[in-house]
Amino acid sequence: MAPPNAHPFGILAVQGDFEMHARMLSRIGAPWKLVKRAADFDGIAGLIMPGGESTTMLKFFAEEGLGQPVKDFVGRGQPVFGTCAGAILLATEATNPPQESLGLLDITIERNAYGRQVDSSVRRGECPELSDHPIQMVFIRAPIIRRVGEGVRVLGRADGLPVLVQKGNVIASTFHPELTDDETIHRYFLLQR
Ligand code: GLN
Repeated sequence: MAPPNAHPFGILAVQGDFEMHARMLSRIGAPWKLVKRAADFDGIAGLIMPGGESTTMLKFFAEEGLGQPVKDFVGRGQPVFGTCAGAILLATEATNPPQESLGLLDITIERNAYGRQVDSSVRRGECPELSDHPIQMVFIRAPIIRRVGEGVRVLGRADGLPVLVQKGNVIASTFHPELTDDETIHRYFLLQR
């Protein structure tokens, strides 16, 4: 359990499945708070950007002026973890169709890349640095990381494709680790603070 005065982790809560991340952090015993506006960044130990619909999230970002606070947060070396739509927002390049993004992680990511017939699937992937065992990974209208920039580490793969990547304080997954009982990925993120 975290000490009672520990800084909470922020969970971006403008759209998407932020509640399941909150549930996972509660399960692990990590304090959290929802982040909806720039002022909510004060005092958070890290930020989770959940899955959902990146296009919708971008609209909220513009309305609430949330892009700059995320950039500043990353610039200060604070840990950020983007899952699925969150990963799309963090990328330097989002395609299919091309879409604005924050440019905080040097990857090219193709949206909805598994095709309609497999909009959602559960696959087994490997994260050898994090776990000895295969990890169940839930993909929902998931993107595919098509290019990994210099210095970006591939921490997880499924079907040969990179699905969990990290550079410095920025981590991104194309799957939804908050939707299984496996705490490995969140625990790894919590260690980054
Ligand atoms: N297809 C969504 C997008 O492009 C991402 C889906 C997800 O986050 N599960 O934003």
